[in-house]
Amino acid sequence: MLKKLFKTIISSKAANASDMASVEPNIISRDNHCISRKQISKSALTVMYDLRKAGYEAYLVGGGVRDLLLGLAPKDFDVATNATPEQVLQHFRRARIVGRRFKIAHVRFGREIIEVTTFRAGHEQLENKKGSNSNKSETNDQGMLLRDNVYGNLRDDALRRDFTINALYYSIDGFTVFDYVNGLDDLQNRLIRIIGDANQRYAEDPVRMLRAIRFKAKFDFELEQQTAAPMRSLGHLLNQVAPPRLFDETVKIFLNGHGRQAFELLVEYQLFDTLFPVTAPYLQSEGQQNSENTGEHYYQLICNALNNTDQRVQDHKPVTPAFLFAALLWPAVCEDAAIQLGSGSPKLRALQIAGHNAVDGQIGTIAIPKRFSIAMREIWTLQQRLETAHGKRAIAVLQHPRFRAAYDFLLLREQTGESLDNRGEFWTQLQIEHPVERQHTPRPEGGNRRRRRPRNKDKPAAE
Ligand code: ATP
Ligand code: MG
Repeated sequence: MLKKLFKTIISSKAANASDMASVEPNIISRDNHCISRKQISKSALTVMYDLRKAGYEAYLVGGGVRDLLLGLAPKDFDVATNATPEQVLQHFRRARIVGRRFKIAHVRFGREIIEVTTFRAGHEQLENKKGSNSNKSETNDQGMLLRDNVYGNLRDDALRRDFTINALYYSIDGFTVFDYVNGLDDLQNRLIRIIGDANQRYAEDPVRMLRAIRFKAKFDFELEQQTAAPMRSLGHLLNQVAPPRLFDETVKIFLNGHGRQAFELLVEYQLFDTLFPVTAPYLQSEGQQNSENTGEHYYQLICNALNNTDQRVQDHKPVTPAFLFAALLWPAVCEDAAIQLGSGSPKLRALQIAGHNAVDGQIGTIAIPKRFSIAMREIWTLQQRLETAHGKRAIAVLQHPRFRAAYDFLLLREQTGESLDNRGEFWTQLQIEHPVERQHTPRPEGGNRRRRRPRNKDKPAAE
């Protein structure tokens, strides 16, 4: 598919995507790429045709174009236009603007939301405005974008996107693809390349580092050298990102079917340390452990949890962040519980205190919503009952709404080599002997996800 796509492209080979600001786009005609309108959601097509009819420009952009060119089914469709969010609102009854500082129009079609972004001007315009009183763009002292509502044209918009593979535009006029940044070359060469100067682009929005990791893990692409180079030294910038946004991003990273790979990359690029300050110290092999567990053990436990989750995603089974975050914070819980035990607390109390401390220490970086942190703490404290309960008490535990999740967690611990007196097998048998009707049971990785208001994902800072 890609071969066909590239056979007639004559690309200008600029070394760095930022050098391409002045070049005309490569325009790939309909015969020379593999995107067909049939693969695009009707809702996205409606938005584009309606905007065109109203006299505006409108293109499919981002993951929709990238994934279709790779022969994959896009997760969602994003549209770029020169209509302002307010103008988009006038044309669609079911549209609303999200993000006060980073305005985007969401057009709803049933459960589907088409995200319509107005062409934004690039960082160089924003640079000029640094420190000015402009209410359209603003950066903080570290160069992080606090506001980004400077509108521009299609080329400006291409240059302010994150990676070259995400800056391809499909037009419904003539069904051509526009490429200002040699994104097609990079797609063919399986390269993730940041647009512009990596240091500056990460400083503007540190989440771009997480996006690079996510795309690398998902597509098994290479990180282009200059794109990868500053990551290790800039990881600390993630501390400036709003914790709710980091929750959204980590969920995207870990629950998209390639979480295990992404975890290893986050550790490799030292981003995990900033994201999970309570866990990271215990993953070191020379870490100061209070329990018998080693850093390697905890690392493996997280890998196993992510492998299981990846498998569930591939099997189209539901997944929820509660189980995953329970595993991600378990090293801290386990180690703290060992300290509490040492100072005389009973096991259950030790787990309660440690669970509380772990969540407390984590939410300043990643804001885990209460509904998940409550479930996590139940999973942790139930471990004590799963390790010890017998007879009638054990049968009663089967009724606990969080039993299934806690049981899966126990299996995860055993899978990772913890010797728990064969308790996994005990509970497996007990469930067979005493089947429990579960009408609405919160599963470890399933169901019960409350619909959340979609967050504006392209916003670099707290609202
Ligand atoms: P997917 O939807 O498959 O996760 P995507 O690339 O479409 O991948 P979105 O979050 O939907 O990701 O964003 C749509 C597009 O918006 C991206 O492809 C990119 O062009 C742009 N974008 C998103 N986030 C940023 C960012 N932080 N900085 C610059 N551009 C961004
Ligand atoms: Mg998308």
